[in-house]
Amino acid sequence: MPIIPDKLPNVGTTIFTVMSKLAADVGALNLAQGFPSFGADPALLDLVNQAMRANHNQYAPMAGVPVLRKAIARKMVDCYGVSYDPDTDITVTSGATEALFAAITAVVQSGTSQGQEPDEVIVFEPAYDSYVPAIELAGGRPVYVSLSPPDYAIDWADVAAKITDRTRLVVMNTPHNPSGHVWTASDVNELARLAEAHNLFVVADEVYEHITFDGRTHHSLMQHPVLRERTFVIGSFGKTFHITGWKIGYCLAPKPLTDAFRKIHQFLTFSVSTPMQYALAGYLRDSEPYASLSSFYERKRDVFLEAIAGSRFVFTPSEGTFFQNVSYVPITREPDAQLAIRLTHEIGVASIPVSVFYHQKTDHHILRFCFAKDDNILLEAGARLTKWSKAEG
Ligand code: PMP
Ligand code: GLN
Repeated sequence: MPIIPDKLPNVGTTIFTVMSKLAADVGALNLAQGFPSFGADPALLDLVNQAMRANHNQYAPMAGVPVLRKAIARKMVDCYGVSYDPDTDITVTSGATEALFAAITAVVQSGTSQGQEPDEVIVFEPAYDSYVPAIELAGGRPVYVSLSPPDYAIDWADVAAKITDRTRLVVMNTPHNPSGHVWTASDVNELARLAEAHNLFVVADEVYEHITFDGRTHHSLMQHPVLRERTFVIGSFGKTFHITGWKIGYCLAPKPLTDAFRKIHQFLTFSVSTPMQYALAGYLRDSEPYASLSSFYERKRDVFLEAIAGSRFVFTPSEGTFFQNVSYVPITREPDAQLAIRLTHEIGVASIPVSVFYHQKTDHHILRFCFAKDDNILLEAGARLTKWSKAEG
């Protein structure tokens, strides 16, 4: 048999698969992988059924069904005051994951046989785990800007120092998974300044756009004129409507960028589930489900934080997303990957070790807990964690 050279030698099975399997095997509460334990709105499910019965069961157009692209365009005007043309600027994708892959593949050039250097891509870490494999498969080189707890603030002088004449793309994410940090308007301005000065493209992963806390607002990159023209803004209905398993997302970008994006998208998936797209188009007529999402998750964050308030864990309340990071430095110094596995076995609570999101597995002794769970799960997990923290060490 021929041997397949490993295109991603630094990558194994994703941590989400590993921890969800372990949680299922040992019957643990799964606060690891980011998905809701509760169901979607029955009204949305009815819309899927209606779409199927209306015979919307064949291939959708490659870019997405027109009614959904129009509904997305309207939503962007309502939420951010920004127009995208549904025909030329909006593509419906198989989750944000496919959109990220297609956008990165469209932009990043590998080195050529003439010995040219590969494109460099600025990646803020801890980084969601699909960015770097996409960059590397495109033949690009990730250049890391490392952010640290507790605030994960961006040192823009550090970012500027990492830009070279090979830098082509910045991949950013706000609200940020796994840290729960939300970019400020000043962060957006700093990025715009650098992107303009160095002629960079940007991939903006905004899948948690509707989940920000304590009065914070989400600053979409599309709202900055300099960034709008050079950014692929990526969203996902999975996070917003409690349907992570549907895997439907989208990419918003000006026509020249979308043209390049669609060339890749058409051969990755061609098109996305038709009845789901019709259902989402209908469901988007009502803004309430996403307008109320921040307060819905802020309350869940607080239920979890109150449940661990008497523990020895240390934390800063998450600013956005449905993740809360906690430091266990006062309790034990063992590696986070080891502790995440031990807690799953010993007290039946699964989490994600944040070191996996750093390329050198930098371990700040932090675990990420997903609070998109029913209250009874959050209370029980919090009680177990508190009891463990008091007994340990
Ligand atoms: N980006 C981030 C930051 C995420 O947390 C996720 C999570 N699932 C994705 C992208 C992928 O989204 P989707 O499930 O729509 O592919
Ligand atoms: N985004 C989810 C998380 O961060 C998981 C997505 C996945 O399983 N690939 O937990």
